[in-house]
Amino acid sequence: MQKIIAILEGDGIGPEIVREAVKVLKAVEIKYNHKFTLNFAPFGAGAYFSEGSPFPEKTRHICDDADVIIKGPVGLAVDKMNLIPQEHRPEIGAILPLRKRYDTFANFRPVRLPKALAAFSPLREELIGDGLDILMIRELVGGIYFGKKTEGASTGMKYAEDECTYTEAQIRRVAMIAFEEARRRKEVLTNVHKANVLATSRFWNDIVEDVAKQFPDVTCNSILVDNAAFQLVKNPCQFNGVMLLENMQGDILTDQAGGLIGSLGLMPSACIGPEKSYVEPAHGSAPDIAGMNIANPYSMIGSIALMFDKCLNLQEEARNIWDAIFHVFGQGFITQDLVSEGYDKKKVLSTSAFGDMVV
Ligand code: ATP
Ligand code: MG
Repeated sequence: MQKIIAILEGDGIGPEIVREAVKVLKAVEIKYNHKFTLNFAPFGAGAYFSEGSPFPEKTRHICDDADVIIKGPVGLAVDKMNLIPQEHRPEIGAILPLRKRYDTFANFRPVRLPKALAAFSPLREELIGDGLDILMIRELVGGIYFGKKTEGASTGMKYAEDECTYTEAQIRRVAMIAFEEARRRKEVLTNVHKANVLATSRFWNDIVEDVAKQFPDVTCNSILVDNAAFQLVKNPCQFNGVMLLENMQGDILTDQAGGLIGSLGLMPSACIGPEKSYVEPAHGSAPDIAGMNIANPYSMIGSIALMFDKCLNLQEEARNIWDAIFHVFGQGFITQDLVSEGYDKKKVLSTSAFGDMVV
C-alpha cells in the first residue's frame, strides 16, 4: 500500500513521542512492504513563533494532500502560552480549525489496561480482572462546545449563555460508527446521556435507538452520565465494549478513564472524518517533562496502531503493534510515569528505549 502521511510533531514532548511512533511506522512499512511518504509540517505553539500561525498555510496544504495525519500534542507552559494572543493559541488557532477542516466527528479513545499493567493503576487489581478494554467513542464536532456563546446583560442582570445543539445527521453518523465497532468487536454498546434533564440528550437517545434497530445483534445499554462516572470507578469492566458519548460528556469521561488506568501517557486516540482522519494522543504537551526523554510514547505509538486500524483499514498491522506494546509491558518494562516506589530501576525505560523495544 502507498500512502502520504502528514506529520505534525507539535510542542513539548510532541517531537520525542512522535519520533518513537515514526520508528514503529517504519518497522511496519518494511515488514509489510508498504510505501509511506512522510511530510513533516509545523503546527501548534512552536509554529506560531516560527511561522506566525499555529496552523500555517503550508501545513494546511500538506494536510490536504495527505491520506492521513499524525499529530503530536500542542501547547506550552502557561507563562509561555500567555505570550500568544488568544486567537492564535493552539486550541482556538490549530486544533479546532483542524477538526473543522476535516469534520472529524468521531473521536476513538481506547481505554486498555491489560493484566500486566494492573499494578500501576490506582484501581484495586481485583477490579481489573482479566483486563479493562473499553473503546470510548466521543462525538467531536457538535454539542455545546460548538454552539453560540453569549455574554451580556438583561434588565441590569449580567449573564452568560452556551448553546447546545445536535442535529439528527450529527447523531446518526457517530451512532452508526459506534454500532459498527460494537458489531465488529462482538461486544456491548453503552450509550451515555443526560436525558432526565437535557432535550439534546432525549433527542440523542431517540436517534441512537433508531440506529440500534439496524443492529439487532448488538446489545445496547444506556446509562445517565453521572451514574456512568460513578460506575466507571466502582466497576469499570462492566463497560468493556463500546461507550458512545456526546462531545462534552465524552471529553470529561475519557479524561476520567485516563486517570483510572494510571497515566495520560496510556491514552491514544483517533479523530475520524468522512474523508480524512487524524490521530493524536489524548493528553497535552506535558511541558514539565519535555526534552527529558522520559515521556511515555505509548499514547503516540498506540495512535499509530489506531491509524492502521481505523484510518487505513490495515487490521493486522494494528494488531501487531498492540501485541508488541503489550509484550514489552508484559515483561515488566515501563516508563517513568508508571513507576511506583521500589520498582526495579533496570525495568524503567526512557522514551526512546521503549520505542526501540516495541520495534
Ligand atoms: P492540555 O491542557 O494541553 O490538555 P494539560 O494541562 O491537561 O494539557 P498534560 O500536558 O496533558 O496537561 O499533562 C498532564 C500531566 O500528565 C503532566 O504532569 C504530564 O507530565 C503528564 N503526561 C502527559 N502525557 C504524558 C506522557 N505521554 N508520558 C508521561 N507523562 C505524561
Ligand atoms: Mg488536558
